[in-house]
Amino acid sequence: MKTDATEKQARMNTKVIAPPWNIEESEHLYRIQGWGDPYFSINAAGHITVSPEGDRGGSLDLYELVQALRQRNIGLPLLIRFSDILADRLARLNASFSKAIARYNYPNVYRGVYPVKCNQHRHIVEAVVHHGRPYHFGLEAGSKPELMIALATLDPSVYPANDPALIICNGYKDQEYLETAMLATHLGHKPIIVIEQLNELYATVDISKRLGLKPVLGVRAKLSTKGSGRWGSSTGDRAKFGLTIPQMITAIEYLKSQEMLDCLQLLHFHIGSQISSINVFKDAIREASQVYVQLAKAGANMKYLDVGGGLGVDYDGSKTNFYASKNYDMQSYANDIVAEIQEACEGSKLPEPILISESGRAIAAHQSVLIFDVLNTSDVPTIPPPPNGGNDNLIIRNLWETYESINLKNYQEMYHDASQYKEEAISLFNFGYLSLQERARAEQLYWACCGKILEMTRHQEYVPDDLEDLEKIMASIYYVNFSVFQSAPDSWAIDQLFPIMPIHRLDEEPEKRAILADLTCDSDGKIDQFIDLRDVKSVLELHSLKEDKSGLNSDNCSSLPPKEPYYLGMFLVGAYQEIMGNFHNLFGDINVVHIQMNPKGYKIEHVVKGDTITEVLGYVQYDAEDLLESMRQQTEHALQDNRIDFDKSQQLLKDYEGSLSRYTYLV
Ligand SMILES: *Cc1c(COP(=O)(O)O)cnc(C)c1O
Repeated sequence: MKTDATEKQARMNTKVIAPPWNIEESEHLYRIQGWGDPYFSINAAGHITVSPEGDRGGSLDLYELVQALRQRNIGLPLLIRFSDILADRLARLNASFSKAIARYNYPNVYRGVYPVKCNQHRHIVEAVVHHGRPYHFGLEAGSKPELMIALATLDPSVYPANDPALIICNGYKDQEYLETAMLATHLGHKPIIVIEQLNELYATVDISKRLGLKPVLGVRAKLSTKGSGRWGSSTGDRAKFGLTIPQMITAIEYLKSQEMLDCLQLLHFHIGSQISSINVFKDAIREASQVYVQLAKAGANMKYLDVGGGLGVDYDGSKTNFYASKNYDMQSYANDIVAEIQEACEGSKLPEPILISESGRAIAAHQSVLIFDVLNTSDVPTIPPPPNGGNDNLIIRNLWETYESINLKNYQEMYHDASQYKEEAISLFNFGYLSLQERARAEQLYWACCGKILEMTRHQEYVPDDLEDLEKIMASIYYVNFSVFQSAPDSWAIDQLFPIMPIHRLDEEPEKRAILADLTCDSDGKIDQFIDLRDVKSVLELHSLKEDKSGLNSDNCSSLPPKEPYYLGMFLVGAYQEIMGNFHNLFGDINVVHIQMNPKGYKIEHVVKGDTITEVLGYVQYDAEDLLESMRQQTEHALQDNRIDFDKSQQLLKDYEGSLSRYTYLV
């Protein structure tokens, strides 16, 4: 799968020889060129820069942007959307198909649609329609609410020559859905109703007769080509959607009997999301092209081929067929679609169809960046306890001896010894032979051994398998101010990888190895898998928190010295994450800002404030006034019984009431 393992080693080696850190090393370590090009890079100040218009326009310093937003009272966690990135993704997709069409002299056009389910937020759908207008870029609806968004957002009158953008109608359809879609043709819309089940066909025909209009119909094929990876089961005979070949024949015969076979004009398939391997696409397109040809031969008035979604995003930047990556680029994807279909049509002397794709992830992922701060950290202490003048229990003396004798030749063996002694110490404790203090000494010594061994393995070319977990068990925990369940649900639900890195201090060596723990009290609320050149890594390189000398970040209630803010970014989160996030522990929607580039730099286009505590409580049917009233009554009782003094009672009510209007995250 992934190659070039030596690169990582080379990195390790150079680290030993050339200690001063530079931004090139950060680029390499976080693989930013692999997943971020051309939108994200690192500047000389060691900050991430964003070039929302790719290689064509200006750029901004992400760290400075976050500071500027905080000064405007927009707190973390924060989602920043760059509408110019969305526009650039659309332009690239359309340019890829234009190039492919020119290259193969394909005698028809490409008319993409954006699947609304990928990110339904109004500003995003509106931006897709706006920036997609020159390309007649349409929308795909997978449900009735999404159809309602699509119809109201696309204005058919703005497109030239009676040629509006398409609305592809997928998903389960009831009578109202079908009726709405069909009647919208009177407004100038161009909906195509994709039949996914036979009974939808019968309902569609009934309604169209009743309304006296002829809809444009499509059929969704259940291809036998297997998708790969996580969404592999979107095709095949047992797939949830689509017609099998026998069902398609039934559909054709039925349409013929109703004198409506000319309505059938589109073939659709969708083999799943994030297709990592181009070969899977090629197989599917080849099969679908033949189905298309056969439908035309059977008398359908075929005009469109819709290849669905699945165009992948290279989350780890490895350019491989690993699940977090993809082994092809947009251009080769477009080329393969155009070439395969052209070959099939030429072979059968059929006119080539209008090409449609339903790329969601590839359009929406790059535009959004999640920014969050680190609240505090905890390290595994590796300092051995003070010596005890030879009075220790034998097991502790053994651990001491192990600790002292660790060297480059024996560290693997010493690791096994230390682990075994620790196990023995715990058994002795369980049988009552070791005191709490003694057990503490044993554990401290064990961690000291692990720390010493880990330090040695980090400088080795080769790390034995049994020591690979050491990095993981010794990882620092960075407590971060966001909820995985709300802001990166796929990271929790399906182990999806997103690039995560600091957005500043990239000119300093990140000397810590960490996992991230979120704000929820759920033990799944963590991130302990990170992108890497080879598969995944279990720890992320991060910087130690610095003491804050500015005096600006003191929270007044901690006796510890305040820390300088340390900001992390999670990238490529614009597809699926927002809408599938949930309210675990009642952490609500986060603040969102839309940034647009202009000749003077950038402009804050929209600010969508995240939920307040009152709002999330409302989602679970609590009324803030009722809660406050209950607290007031409890306070009055306590005052009457002298359980609280007046000032404290008022402080409690003030805090409670204040919290109701506050952000659900830590401020
Ligand atoms: C989800 C979905 C898409 C979008 O897939 P991406 O992989 O995000 O491009 C397209 N078409 C259908 C039918 C879908 O269900």
